[in-house]
Amino acid sequence: MQVTLDTRYQGRSDAAEAVDILRRCVHCGFCSATCPTYQIFGDELDGPRGRLYLVKQVLEGEPTTARTRLHLDRCLTCRACETTCPSGVAYGPLIDIGRKIVDEALPRHPLARLGRIALAAALTGPFFRPAVALGRVFRGLLPASLRRALPAKRAAGPMPDRRHVRRVLLLAGCVQPSLSPSISAATRRVFDALGIETLLAPSAGCCGAIRHHLGETQSALDDLRRNIDAWWPLIESGAEAIITDASGCGTMLKDYGPLLRDDLAYATKAARVSELARDVSEVVAAETGRVAELAAQRGVSQRIAFHPPCSLQHGLKLRGGVESILRAAGASLLPFADTHLCCGSAGTYSLLQPAVSQELRSRKLAALNAAQPELILSANIGCITQLADEGGVPVRHWIEWLDERIKNP
Ligand code: SF4
Ligand code: SF4
Repeated sequence: MQVTLDTRYQGRSDAAEAVDILRRCVHCGFCSATCPTYQIFGDELDGPRGRLYLVKQVLEGEPTTARTRLHLDRCLTCRACETTCPSGVAYGPLIDIGRKIVDEALPRHPLARLGRIALAAALTGPFFRPAVALGRVFRGLLPASLRRALPAKRAAGPMPDRRHVRRVLLLAGCVQPSLSPSISAATRRVFDALGIETLLAPSAGCCGAIRHHLGETQSALDDLRRNIDAWWPLIESGAEAIITDASGCGTMLKDYGPLLRDDLAYATKAARVSELARDVSEVVAAETGRVAELAAQRGVSQRIAFHPPCSLQHGLKLRGGVESILRAAGASLLPFADTHLCCGSAGTYSLLQPAVSQELRSRKLAALNAAQPELILSANIGCITQLADEGGVPVRHWIEWLDERIKNP
């Protein structure tokens, strides 16, 4: 796809990156087949190829309209199109740049902007935890959609306190510790069983994805810098990796280097963070033999369906790793249709585009339940809360299941 950059974007590194990405597109349209929003709307502009054209038009100085924004906002950033594309079009970075320049060319209404800032503050700030606790107390009074998004409280359980030679940093995150503290507790116990100590940096917080995807670029970069400052002493003291047990956050960590490459004070450190970032499954997969040994003594396997989050399979490009671990630990995994498609969670998408999100949720649950699982596992807190179905099949993080499967020696 040829792009003639408008003068206002010349000399900008993000615009130059967008042009490089767009040039790889050969208009074949293969990506449309795996795009969830194209499947729902059947409109070229709600598919990847149409969105590429919209970004190209903005870069070429064509007028930016509310329609341009509508179609970009409807994108889930699931990156299924990136996996499908035979030409290697890096759609994820492109849509981020596209949204940024659209917001510059056509600023959002101040109230809409305020709503986005408030949403990010509510999800990442200190009041989220008490709000979750309050919501649990008054659960019965909440509308069904909010009740579903509020998983039943599970105790975190005992924290390991053994020292090990191998040490990793664990990203605590923002939403997950309040909604499901049992997930990171399970990660820490599994790592302990594998002879790996997990370190936490108390002053680290949200990975930055929430603000980044809401278009709050500068405050998102501040999140990144705060985390780098919090982690750096532990990195220098020999932490071998930075672990995420929410694959959405893992995808964000991989972007620290590219996002801060023009920041002289942080570029090198940010690149190192991205290099050290690992999804929890990558570390456990390297210990699959030990996992199988630890799980061998435990009872019969369950009928399990594993829903791979888009951030895991398309963002981090980690496909099949969790499934191999689960099988090694004795799970009987059930095949189901359209595993590549998004469940509609997609960070704050479920709040900002509720109708599309609910449609995708219904489709995903129908596909999962057709396999008649006893348990649904996933790898990202967003998908887990999105697929939770009161009275339906329980949905949990795979590391929690593994924690219960293996004996901690
Ligand atoms: S990121 Fe997902 S929703 Fe957006 S264009 Fe690609 S496949 Fe479609
Ligand atoms: S599959 Fe890739 S090359 Fe083909 S239209 Fe989509 S983005 Fe362009």
